[in-house]
Amino acid sequence: ERLTIGFIGLGNMGTPMSRRLLDAGIGVRGFDLDAAARERFAQHGGTAFDDLSEMVPGCAQLILMLPNSDIVGAVLEGDGGVLERIDPGTLIVDMSSSEPLRTRALAERVAARGGRLIDAPVSGGVGGANAGTLSIMVGGNAADVASAEPVLAHLGRVSHVGAAGAGHALKAINNLMSATHLWVTSEAMQTGIAFGLAPETMLEVVNRSSGRSGSTEHKWPKFILGESYDSGFSLALMLKDMRIATGLAEHLGVPHALSDAAVRHWQIADADLGRGADHTEVARWLAQHTEG
Ligand code: NAD
Repeated sequence: ERLTIGFIGLGNMGTPMSRRLLDAGIGVRGFDLDAAARERFAQHGGTAFDDLSEMVPGCAQLILMLPNSDIVGAVLEGDGGVLERIDPGTLIVDMSSSEPLRTRALAERVAARGGRLIDAPVSGGVGGANAGTLSIMVGGNAADVASAEPVLAHLGRVSHVGAAGAGHALKAINNLMSATHLWVTSEAMQTGIAFGLAPETMLEVVNRSSGRSGSTEHKWPKFILGESYDSGFSLALMLKDMRIATGLAEHLGVPHALSDAAVRHWQIADADLGRGADHTEVARWLAQHTEG
């Protein structure tokens, strides 16, 4: 019998991820509030549903790729939500970048009803989703993680990093690093450019020196110097992740002054650039605020 996966959230990431599962011959049902997203999914051979409660029964696994914990909570626990219709034994895999402490509590509530939930957020962006090379950070018990692994293996490389919520903690921590790197890299690059250095030369040299990061190796050459600013990861979602990580630091009593400063600067750029901005546009924003 063919495995049936239910995929909830067919946006920038959910679209290429669900396609990889379809291309692997897995039966995939899909749901998204956005009709255009459902249409894209159906055109690739998926079975699109416009009613979540009809999609859920009969799925062996449900994958969520939604914006944030509020929406994950509403989709699972809201009126007419997943938990009202789910078959016993169905595994819920939250691949969204959600809030670790809320995920931990959610997993406990799901378990109390006899269900199973693991967190499996990803890094690697739209490119990694298309190529099936995502870094997948998984939190949950070993048996549940093992049962998700054959499906997750089509999407990238799985690292089981701890109990429920651990994947979401690591993902937020990763993005706090990534966002802070991008900001300071962009300030540093503007300084070099203003001094008269060629940006291509700077990146080439830094990438064999100690300042390199994903921002110098990937984001700056591809989306910023190329001036496409189309990474497919919004500024608003990056800011959400940074707030999750600094909130966690605060909760755990870890000093986070520099991280807070990074959040403040990203917040200013977000307010200025408006909804829909790509996260790589912070570099353009900085360039526009360079005098002379
Ligand atoms: P997106 O906004 O492109 O997609 C989210 C989708 O969820 C949209 O299609 C939206 O219509 C749908 N949606 C919203 N509310 C819904 C609901 N109640 N029911 C059903 N569908 C609903 O976001 P994305 O870039 O695909 O990111 C998804 C998650 O993955 C986020 O948590 C993000 O932080 C994380 N993430 C994104 C990237 C990236 O590069 N884009 C990389 C890693 C992780």
